[in-house]
Amino acid sequence: MHGAVQSLKFGDLDELPDPIDLSADDDGRSMYRFVSELYPICRSITGEGVRRTLNQIMEHIPLTICEVPSGLQVFDWTVPLEWNIRDAYVKDSAGERVIDFRTSNLHVLGYSIPVHRRIGLSELREHLFSDPQQPDWIPYRTSYYKQAWGFCLSHRQLLELPDDEYEVCIDSSLEAGHLTFGELLVRGRSSDEVLISCHVCHPSLCNDNLSGIAVACALAKRLGSMDLRYSYRFLFIPGTIGSITWAAIRRPHLSKIKHGFVLTCVGDRGSPTYKASRRGDAEIDRAWTYVLKQSGSAFDILPFSPFGYDERQYCSPGLNLPVGCFMRTPHGQFPEYHTSADDLSFVSAPSLSDSAAKAFTTIDVIEKNHKYLNLKPLCEPKLGDYGLYSTIGGHSAGDLQMAILWLLNMSDGTNSLLDIAARCNLPWGIMKEAVRALSEAGLLKQVEEPD
Ligand code: ZN
Repeated sequence: MHGAVQSLKFGDLDELPDPIDLSADDDGRSMYRFVSELYPICRSITGEGVRRTLNQIMEHIPLTICEVPSGLQVFDWTVPLEWNIRDAYVKDSAGERVIDFRTSNLHVLGYSIPVHRRIGLSELREHLFSDPQQPDWIPYRTSYYKQAWGFCLSHRQLLELPDDEYEVCIDSSLEAGHLTFGELLVRGRSSDEVLISCHVCHPSLCNDNLSGIAVACALAKRLGSMDLRYSYRFLFIPGTIGSITWAAIRRPHLSKIKHGFVLTCVGDRGSPTYKASRRGDAEIDRAWTYVLKQSGSAFDILPFSPFGYDERQYCSPGLNLPVGCFMRTPHGQFPEYHTSADDLSFVSAPSLSDSAAKAFTTIDVIEKNHKYLNLKPLCEPKLGDYGLYSTIGGHSAGDLQMAILWLLNMSDGTNSLLDIAARCNLPWGIMKEAVRALSEAGLLKQVEEPD
């Protein structure tokens, strides 16, 4: 259904191989199709929607699924009751479904308790949620921690509801069960970890939810086939309560996390944004800043603030992990945010592809950010004698020559490759090429770092 619509923009998604390869270099088409496959599922912070989503992710990458029981104390919070929903509707007196969960799962207030009654319009209205600012869209609303029931609908539809006797039905359950999350560790040479976290708790919302999942899966798939310095821990968790639960039960492990970022809202057509960690100058913050600057396109760097996604938990003062947040347009700054308009037309394959590429480059920076020592530090070495002029040719000769000179000058064992790259403002690929050329010439040596 969605494939047909999107084929106009992104080529025929049905022609992709089956199963799709999320790490394929196909301008984001496989990631986009994965978003469209996850889109219909009604997710929440617990329940079958999360499990179904994790199962679909496991068709691409091998997750470990953790089920944490309702009632478990996690820091200042308690793992909530598990919520599941089968159907919900409001029928008019003629028996017509005027609000129907089957047409959009956003119609139900998330975590609604079960109800089945006949009520008049005025009582019904007390349980209806709309947004007069966006009168054609269904808003996304939840009531996780206060027992309630309700329906969400466009403001236009709300205004048009006639006085009538309505049958309201929410066929849900809110019972002791589990909070479910998925975790994947891609092992590198070091047991030090990079945390990559995304939330899996929103119903049919593409940018604020599914885009992060698709990009995280693509990164995990790609890293899984590589020889890596760091180990990479991917988390697919319900927002807020999921990261709090994970941090509480993995607390002894958290010191392993040396870098990390949350992925969210990475599919819209806006320019990239990186929100720094609470530390503000962590290596991951400087890596993202460098990568976005080098891209040559518009971008934004935001300072940390204790509002947003799960970076709030990772950056709480007692944890203070070096974890930022990568997104395109920040939450709340696009009108489609938390509405039915955050749909498949709001995200694009090229944006998903660009987000994954930038995250991958940032990972490459972190992977290869070593310190080096100039082995001929007494004045400049006579580069011609080392055959380095032969490597300085072609269209990027100027950049490579400058990278070689900067590396020789700054490599006194205290500056990292990222420090030098940021200072001379040269592309990462050129910096790596300069390291290779100087190392082969015997002029540069990597400083041994303890793992
Ligand atoms: Zn959200």
